[in-house]
Amino acid sequence: MSTPPVPLSQFVLKVHSRCDLACDHCYVYESADQSWHGRPAAISDEVISRTAERIAQHAASHRLDTVQVVLHGGEPLLAGPARLRRVATELRSALTGISGLDLRIHTNGVLLDEEFCELFAEHDVRVGVSIDGDRAANDRHRRYANGRSSYDQVVRAIGLLATARFRHLYSGLLCTIDIANDPLVVYDSLMRLDPPRIDFLLPHATWESPPARPPDGDEAYADWLIAIFDRWLAGGRPVQVRTFDSIISTLAGGDSLTEALGLGPAVLAVIETDGSYEQVDSLKTAFDGAPVTGLNVFGHSLDAVAQHPGILARQQGLAGLCQTCQQCPVVTSCGGGLYTHRYRAATGFANPSVYCADLLKLITHVSSRLPQTAPGQQPAPTHGVSGTDFRALAAGLGGPAAVAQLTEAQRSLRRVLLGAVYQAGSAAPAVADQVKAALRAAWTVLTDVDGKQPAALDAVLAHPYVRVWAVRCLEQLKTPGEPGLAAMLGHLGAIAAVAAFRAGAQASVTVPVSGGAVHLPTLGRLLVDEPDTAAVTVAGDAVTIVAGDRRWDLAPAAEQGGPAGWQPVRRLRAPGISVALEDTDPYRDCHQWRAAPRLADSGLARWQRCFEDAWREIERDHPAYAPAIAAGLSVLMPLSPGPPGRDISASARHAFGAVAVALPEDPVTLALLLIHEFQHVKLGAVLDIYDIYDPADGRLFHAPWREDLRPLEGLLQGTYAHLAVTDFWRARQEVTAGAEAEAAGQRFVYWRDQTRDAIKTLTGSGSLTPLGERFVSEMGQAVCP
Ligand code: SF4
Ligand code: SF4
Repeated sequence: MSTPPVPLSQFVLKVHSRCDLACDHCYVYESADQSWHGRPAAISDEVISRTAERIAQHAASHRLDTVQVVLHGGEPLLAGPARLRRVATELRSALTGISGLDLRIHTNGVLLDEEFCELFAEHDVRVGVSIDGDRAANDRHRRYANGRSSYDQVVRAIGLLATARFRHLYSGLLCTIDIANDPLVVYDSLMRLDPPRIDFLLPHATWESPPARPPDGDEAYADWLIAIFDRWLAGGRPVQVRTFDSIISTLAGGDSLTEALGLGPAVLAVIETDGSYEQVDSLKTAFDGAPVTGLNVFGHSLDAVAQHPGILARQQGLAGLCQTCQQCPVVTSCGGGLYTHRYRAATGFANPSVYCADLLKLITHVSSRLPQTAPGQQPAPTHGVSGTDFRALAAGLGGPAAVAQLTEAQRSLRRVLLGAVYQAGSAAPAVADQVKAALRAAWTVLTDVDGKQPAALDAVLAHPYVRVWAVRCLEQLKTPGEPGLAAMLGHLGAIAAVAAFRAGAQASVTVPVSGGAVHLPTLGRLLVDEPDTAAVTVAGDAVTIVAGDRRWDLAPAAEQGGPAGWQPVRRLRAPGISVALEDTDPYRDCHQWRAAPRLADSGLARWQRCFEDAWREIERDHPAYAPAIAAGLSVLMPLSPGPPGRDISASARHAFGAVAVALPEDPVTLALLLIHEFQHVKLGAVLDIYDIYDPADGRLFHAPWREDLRPLEGLLQGTYAHLAVTDFWRARQEVTAGAEAEAAGQRFVYWRDQTRDAIKTLTGSGSLTPLGERFVSEMGQAVCP
């Protein structure tokens, strides 16, 4: 049975079809397909315009939140700055108001200079560079036509990208594997280039043209990657490695992160310099003409490309694989490997990968090295941050790029938890059939939305209290007799309804009525005061709720208005930041203090004034903290007032992105509380990714600012927050005068000394991992520079 086409959301745009290198492992020039001979060298203005139009039409008709375009070649920099500027400008302008554009370029780096980097900074183009390892490894294949090495130019180019000025453009390194190279030398040399991500690519091969192997090396590629995996794992996963992260993610029930592994549908098309649409480039290695679709930007829409049999064949998931793969124990992680690598002349693509033995061994090895994850347990982390961002976070800071990496990790985690709730709820004997049927219906909506518009699901999953809900569900499923489980599981329906609404899709689900309201996470709540459940129907941007014999029609996109009883989530805004003021979500009460009830308009106005002033204070006087907060703070949750004379605030480990505060009297205090609590938000996400300390250590430690003893994580959290508190008072001393400056100075000294003492306790605990020692050492240097 085939599935309907999935919209295309990734495009490889060939802007130049020639190259200044002559790598002997190149699939463009050295493979069976030699179509590059007949194509124009550079993309024309006409092809650029038609391509931008086609992508925009496709994004609009499928309501895609984001499309990714990778500028490619040959060598794309040969197209020159003017042509690349035109490509970036036309794509951005065509997509404005329709969808986001994730624009990238993959280059061999030899021409990359400041002029190109300035252009990429101006147009927000992220840059990936191909390099195969150390000088010897790189020189083995990546040379000029006259045999000269390209290594020095490439390393110089990567050095330019790694500078503070262009670091945000540096998307990673692409390394084609050659098992003749020492894997650890390759890994270490790539790590010295401080990449945010490394892609290790298996050399393209088919059953007709198998990869080079030593005589007894049936699993030589697995052994090569395993040597790196073990070092990477022992080092605390210091960088994202797409192959390993993808396997870890799929082993934990999450998504594949690469087309080379897993069962995800193909969503990529290639556009050549003459405007021809092609399937993935790697197919060039199968046979002459393999990637051809016969379609082009002048005569055909991208919908037509999505319906091409070659693309449809790669959207069938498990059903599209051969029998051997379908019955394979690691198929969820492997997915038969890269489509191209399955090719055999007699049977086409209905074969296991030519790297089958390697993939089986690698995935089995990765699985054996990870803590086992069962539904209900926290899944293994699958992400990391770059070395530079890790150091910046450890020093108490970290900018938008670091926060983006933490956010990405949280998104994966929430996806895994969502699946775990569905699986555990559906399998639990104590859960009623009716509840299971509602779970199934919600899950169908979610998978449908995810297949067509994953960004719509991600937008709901970005809500901090989704993880709080999922964790509570999984906890409660361990004691299924507890009341309230059915309502809790039913919240999956509400998440599905919101995902469908955000995707502009159709959906009908049952949702619980809890606390007298239907809750639609991120949108708001409807007071219905009726039975236990309500029916929610979504049709595009309209939502209808029926509870008992009453019916409400909502247009949740509107922040104001709506029928009586509708309480939308409202936002606090200041220049450069916008956060949800969350006073409706039923799972927001996860902080150590009590959530405030729904705010009246006058309360909202007070919050808005104080927030605006506090944000101005942060941007002006604490600018090192502002960009990360603007990038990562998504929810402010009002707390009920604390004990008299005490300003209270909180964060929660499972609610990444949320800070809870009782509105203080003055904006300076709000600025301090926001900075303080966002430290906890960042550190919680770091702890979700990395092992910083030994969790088996149950000892309690003295925290200078508390009377009670704290577990190690509590001490670490407090110290990390007070690193910023110290810095806050240092800055405050500098920007104030007289008695105010004197008081700030005293606070600075007080918190600096307390933080120093706590860092000494952490360092001497003997419980930090090697990575934890690095982290705390950076904290120490930040407080005592
Ligand atoms: S740099 Fe890339 S396109 Fe150019 S020859 Fe090498 S592999 Fe091929
Ligand atoms: S390991 Fe081999 S049999 Fe299993 S899914 Fe991968 S290619 Fe197919």
